[in-house]
Amino acid sequence: MVGTMTTSAVRVIHNYVNGEYTETHGGRSFAKMNPATGEVLADVDEADQQLVDHAVMSARRALDNGWANTPVRERAALLRRAADRIEERFEEFVAAEIADTGKPITQARELDVARALINFRTFADVAAAAGQESFLTDLAGGRQALNYAIRKPLGVVAVIVPWNLPLLLLTWKVAPALACGNAVVVKPSEETPSTAALLAEVLEEVGLPAGVYNVVHGFGADSAGEFLTTHPGIDGVTFTGSSATGSHVMKSVAQRVRPVSFELGGKNAAIVFDDVDIDEALNGLTKSVFANTGQVCLCTERVYVQRNVFDEIAAGLVERAETLRLGNPTDESTTTGPLISQAHRAKVVGYFALAEQSGARTLTGGGIPDLGPDLAGGSWVEPTLWTGLSNADRVVREEIFGPVAALIPFDTEEEAIGLANDTQYGLAAAVWTNDLRRGHRVAQRMRVGISWVNTWFTRELRSPFGGVGLSGIGREGGDSSLHFYTQPTNVCVQL
Ligand code: NAD
Repeated sequence: MVGTMTTSAVRVIHNYVNGEYTETHGGRSFAKMNPATGEVLADVDEADQQLVDHAVMSARRALDNGWANTPVRERAALLRRAADRIEERFEEFVAAEIADTGKPITQARELDVARALINFRTFADVAAAAGQESFLTDLAGGRQALNYAIRKPLGVVAVIVPWNLPLLLLTWKVAPALACGNAVVVKPSEETPSTAALLAEVLEEVGLPAGVYNVVHGFGADSAGEFLTTHPGIDGVTFTGSSATGSHVMKSVAQRVRPVSFELGGKNAAIVFDDVDIDEALNGLTKSVFANTGQVCLCTERVYVQRNVFDEIAAGLVERAETLRLGNPTDESTTTGPLISQAHRAKVVGYFALAEQSGARTLTGGGIPDLGPDLAGGSWVEPTLWTGLSNADRVVREEIFGPVAALIPFDTEEEAIGLANDTQYGLAAAVWTNDLRRGHRVAQRMRVGISWVNTWFTRELRSPFGGVGLSGIGREGGDSSLHFYTQPTNVCVQL
């Protein structure tokens, strides 16, 4: 049986457990809508408690049947074959990601699916090259002990991911987890079930043993997400999503003292100094504010601009916002898709109203665009920029997760640093300046997990990635991923 089937125009997406596509017997299913049009796209089986139990037990059995002890070079080779197979089925992944999210085809190709390949290849390399820590310890009487650490897989890992970059974020966790010899039970977002289902096909095709990769579909509370994170059989949780959900998941996992890795929300700042190359800064800001319709955890929603270039930057950013092309996601000239759902649009539109109530001047946007009858049912909003707000306003403090930013002037470097760090979040920052010393200085003082100078979203996957404050706990990427997805045992031998 295949994971996704077509019945008329609506596909049926099943859970994938122990190498089989499992139909929910008399269970619940839910409709997945196309966010660009509002049409029903798929009917997705919702995993119940029993199926989640089955998934966790299958994962455990797969570990015990030998996967946990597979030589790392074999696991790395399998990851590379998975990357090659995704490359062969590239356009299927692109189409699935576009249908689920409404994101423009150029972005699905160049970012989402491209990064899935890189995730698999990078973690194959990182795991294969990893060494072990060892120390010679001096003891009394001139004797010595050899201490070394062996790293064992963490075990059954629950992988919970959001809808904004579904395949990218899923493979960012699944690739290192598998490279380290874990088995995973994946819960994709209810908004984006398709690419996790397609990945099951790919991993089966390249010979991953049954039970090592399982997918359970559904929601959070009283559904697959909660059944999984509260399950006594899981050995750790890696979660990407909102800070509120992260906090909730942490409480349930805490009862059984399991490790967590949390990549959570952001309210990211950009600081633009007056010595900057204006065009370069505007190109960077256009990406960082509007990429993926502002639905990237790393997107900029606060832009602090030095006062004497404020008007020029504001006018330039408005001009660029107004040339973004909203439209059919499969059209190569489209730059900007819809928001993920009507519910999310209602939230973003609520902030449009709140901004006005807080005394903002809306420079551009602030409404729902008319894109014609074909797209009338989609969750579209206009790219939106405000001035006249301050750090005291909720619009500037809360994560909106849409194509929006508040532009706020500053006078001195110290003031800009203070404003940027004045947040409970701490995921990312971007500093725009032609003074390299200032760039390093300010970037280092940002209270964030990643601080860019004259760029945005440039990623090195061997670097540690994560957030401070409400933006997360722990780091993944490179060795940080190997550390999270393994448990060390220190062996001490007296020589
Ligand atoms: P969300 O927290 O609503 O959902 C994330 C996932 O958790 C989904 O799969 C959801 O079904 C599941 N979930 C919800 N409630 C749960 C519960 N009680 N128990 C277990 N699972 C539960 O987030 P979202 O709206 O899907 O994604 C947007 C958020 O993700 C934003 O806050 C964004 O900043 C954040 N994000 C962070 C990063 C990062 O790397 N830091 C990356 C992307 C997105």
